[in-house]
Amino acid sequence: MTLSNNLIRRLSVGSDGRHDAPFAYMPDGSTVTYGQLWADVNRTAAALLAAGVTPGDRVAVQAQKSLQMLHLVLGAQLAGGVILPLNTAYTANEIAYFLGDAEPAVFICDPAAEAALAPIAKSAGVKTLATLSADGTGSWADRVAAAPSDPVDVPRTAEDLGGILYTSGTTGRSKGAMLTHEALASNAEVLKDYWRFTKDDVLIHALPIFHTHGLFVATNTTLVAGGSIIFMPKFDPDAILAAMPRATAMMGVPTFYTRLLDHPGLTREAVANMRLFVSGSAPLLAETHDRWRETTGHAILERYGMTETNMNTSNPYDGDRRAGTVGFPLPGVEVIVTNPETGEAVPTGEIGAIEVRGPNVFAGYWRMPEKTKEEKRENGFFITGDLGVYDERGYLTLVGRSKDLIITGGFNVYPKEIEGLIDDMDGVKESAVIGLPHPDFGEGVAAVVVKDGEADVSEASILDALKDELARFKQPKRVFFVDELPRNTMGKVQKAALRETYADTFAKTTA
Ligand code: AMP
Repeated sequence: MTLSNNLIRRLSVGSDGRHDAPFAYMPDGSTVTYGQLWADVNRTAAALLAAGVTPGDRVAVQAQKSLQMLHLVLGAQLAGGVILPLNTAYTANEIAYFLGDAEPAVFICDPAAEAALAPIAKSAGVKTLATLSADGTGSWADRVAAAPSDPVDVPRTAEDLGGILYTSGTTGRSKGAMLTHEALASNAEVLKDYWRFTKDDVLIHALPIFHTHGLFVATNTTLVAGGSIIFMPKFDPDAILAAMPRATAMMGVPTFYTRLLDHPGLTREAVANMRLFVSGSAPLLAETHDRWRETTGHAILERYGMTETNMNTSNPYDGDRRAGTVGFPLPGVEVIVTNPETGEAVPTGEIGAIEVRGPNVFAGYWRMPEKTKEEKRENGFFITGDLGVYDERGYLTLVGRSKDLIITGGFNVYPKEIEGLIDDMDGVKESAVIGLPHPDFGEGVAAVVVKDGEADVSEASILDALKDELARFKQPKRVFFVDELPRNTMGKVQKAALRETYADTFAKTTA
């Protein structure tokens, strides 16, 4: 039977008529077939309908990664609902904001958080609160078990919403990006072809599923291809290395790759069965790319996307995967680099604001029409907030977030230029360059550096090494050392936190 639910119909093409084909290899050694997957998704959808979910209702979930949570995501979409996954790190106060803003009909949380979240859910008007634990049990699982198995197919068109994902909010208040069935399905279809996913692929799935990367990129691309996943509740280098002989692909954030490089088990032999390593969500250092290639013989394929747009660009499958770049616009996606003032495209080689248009782009921010208008032009281009530059071969390089751009004495400083120089210095592991309030210059440049072990680098040695490399106004006025840069779960450096920590650095400076 052909489904009239746009997204689920499109996601299930890869497994049509392949009931016995494997979908997931679980940590306990069991295998979940596609037949089981879709039966469980159907039953979950039936449980949501029984809970009173009507088309367009939000279904919020804050739970540990489990197969049952994946059923909930797909089941909510099949039931005509809008899935709203929430980062497991959010506190009760943050959850209060999200529930108040999104007003979900159903909220599913971890049993351990139920007592604290119940009053919050109640005041947000949640009709059904239920629990789901990491092992897939809980009051929600009981409701699913009791639901009928009759086929569910709530008609939804390409324009209907399938999900709301709140932006990671490393700066400012988190906004709910409304993603249509078309945005989600079209991106998965494009990625399947671009990255050559087939039913024979076995993807190592160790990313969280509250974020676009693990939820939509990894899961939906595999579903459309009819391939399978090795389901991992979290990132564990030992488990990943043990899985590689039966896997063909992995999607990860850069920290996956740096941590795996620290593992003695990572060798050419260990990855002999793998065909593809994808990285995204945060910048992959060129050094990591190089070391990975030396150790494994594989060039990591780096891509660029965001919550609001799904995936925008990718290095090529065949051809040169260039370290430090995020490759070319994906088929059907327009990615331009513009002068922020005029919106006109800037010439190749010039830095500008990255704007994106295509079926992958979100419909707008949930209940924030003004914000949507600010960031989405009438011609359909979304102003991503990322800054980038195209080279003469058409590769896009990201140079930072426009919010991280430093303006010192009226001059623009792109942190990435300085970070690149510092990162290349002996004895430096990595760095983050930030702008701090400065009484004379508006902002003063400062660098926060992580040493490579006990290396002999100092503020003076770094400043000295930069003297001949950078114009005076770009040179940091201070260098701080830390053991680790603050990062969120997706590996993004939290520059807002660094700016806060060092906010008073130049407060009393007069020079
Ligand atoms: P999120 O909405 O949490 O997925 O964050 C999206 C942001 O992550 C983008 O706007 C970029 O700033 C950043 N990002 C995504 N992919 C990459 C990449 N390959 N390199 C550098 N930054 C990236």
